[in-house]
Amino acid sequence: MSALLEVEGLTAGYGAAPVLHDVSLTVQPGEIVAVLGANGAGKSTLLRTLSGLLPASSGRITFDGQDLRGIRVERMVHHGLAHVPEGRGVVTELTVDENLRLGGLWRKPQPSLEPIYELFPRLAERRSHLGHQLSGGERQMLAIGRALAAQPRLLLLDEPSLGLAPKITAQIMALLRDLRDRTGLAVLLVEQNVRSALSIADQGVVLSLGRIVTRHDAATLVDDADLRHAYLGF
Ligand code: ATP
Repeated sequence: MSALLEVEGLTAGYGAAPVLHDVSLTVQPGEIVAVLGANGAGKSTLLRTLSGLLPASSGRITFDGQDLRGIRVERMVHHGLAHVPEGRGVVTELTVDENLRLGGLWRKPQPSLEPIYELFPRLAERRSHLGHQLSGGERQMLAIGRALAAQPRLLLLDEPSLGLAPKITAQIMALLRDLRDRTGLAVLLVEQNVRSALSIADQGVVLSLGRIVTRHDAATLVDDADLRHAYLGF
């Protein structure tokens, strides 16, 4: 099977000094890859570079066989890539329904939102509520729902568990796994909550100081005490 996303020798950062060094990784169609690592390791920077928010200074990003470097960020969604940034980016002055419509804006014809509401019944109940009236968990669901409204093949998801109760985090993880199983969605999942992420991931990569220091099957990372101690700190 050819990879959906192929990253080779990626270097990127915010100024002269790079944050990411020579990062290479692949994501297969329908695969969930967890990106793990300490604060400041470069996880969010990796997602920002992949989605075109930050320019890469060298390396290659190939999505479904196409070179993505230099493609404008608003075009990424046409290629099937959606990014849910850390902090979620829900428009708090718009309703749930309006936020979801924004996600599908680039698709012609405009997609129906009903499949999203079926996925998130809680959002369906609150479709006319404003973003700022939602709880943290509801906002996270809305951010994911909005990304899904663009009908991506790869979701770049940054810290979905941030600030959420463990029960809500577990619901979001179960939903991601279910989506992957039903629709073949691939996910590159950045998470501080290592156990949650590895509970649904196929593969785990560990970033340290902007470099990938290891990559294994998620089950191996969880089961192998030496790997866990060396790279995950538990
Ligand atoms: P966290 O979980 O804390 O967000 P992370 O692994 O996602 O950690 P990044 O946010 O990618 O790490 O940060 C990697 C490095 O890049 C850090 O040294 C950080 O200080 C730096 N950095 C992040 N954002 C910016 C920015 N907007 N301008 C300059 N430097 C930044």
